[in-house]
Amino acid sequence: MEKSVLLSSLQNIIEKASTVLPEDIRRALEKSFTEEREASVAKDTLGMIIESAVCSKESTRPICQDTGSILAIIKSRPDESIILIEEAIHEAVKILTRNGILRQNCVDPVTGQNTGDNTGKHVPQIHFVPIDGPTTVSVMLKGGGSENVSTQYSLPDSSLEAGRDLDGVRKCILDAVFKAQGKGCSPGILGVCVGGDRASGYLLAKEMLFRRLDDENPCKILGKLEETVMEQANSLGIGPMGLGGRTTLLGVKIGNAGRHPASFFVTVSYSCWAVRRISAELDSEGRISEWL
Ligand code: SF4
Repeated sequence: MEKSVLLSSLQNIIEKASTVLPEDIRRALEKSFTEEREASVAKDTLGMIIESAVCSKESTRPICQDTGSILAIIKSRPDESIILIEEAIHEAVKILTRNGILRQNCVDPVTGQNTGDNTGKHVPQIHFVPIDGPTTVSVMLKGGGSENVSTQYSLPDSSLEAGRDLDGVRKCILDAVFKAQGKGCSPGILGVCVGGDRASGYLLAKEMLFRRLDDENPCKILGKLEETVMEQANSLGIGPMGLGGRTTLLGVKIGNAGRHPASFFVTVSYSCWAVRRISAELDSEGRISEWL
């Protein structure tokens, strides 16, 4: 892959992630807008969110002032190009920070100093997945406020009367939504991992947020659970920004991972409406060959 071509592609991908709300999320917001009561705070709030997203796209400005945490997942053949891609991501992030497309969001937790360019130890977070196929790059900018209300449960949980079964999972997810009210900038989108360990649970839950809102869960049982949680969460009356209304969630995406016999984790990655995610395929020179 060509270094300069890769850099330009990565800049393009991350800039688009920051400034263009994914189509499926925009459509879900518009549908919710039509479903909220006339002259309600909820309808006004959704109207402002939609208008703001249109302005961001038209003026190539960030959808939200909070860049969030930058996550990149690269699927590629395990050759030397993965090093070039990693370097290009770092460089692209620095350039976009200088250009005001990304806010300086990386703080050294020991010194309290902001690194100033959105790079630092383990930042941006980059994961490589070896595949025998074309290279794809997926980027997510996930808001700090919503990350703060992401959470993990260990079943059984007596405080929720939640056992080690799918009904227990449902109780955990609804508890997370209830506790997030007024925080995390709803309407939210949930990525959930059932099973795994504490570390894989958080990563897989976040990866669920890459799924389109209108996709179908390949596991029918989890698909049914997604529908149930959506329905029950949206009957809580929390509403956009926690100000009341019918739209508390825009989507729920549940995946699973094998668990240790002694553990049963349920991990909820809560995203605000401004989940900025994007995926693209690169050709052998590093050019964007397709938006995915
Ligand atoms: S939680 Fe989301 S919408 Fe709220 S400030 Fe952070 S990025 Fe923006």
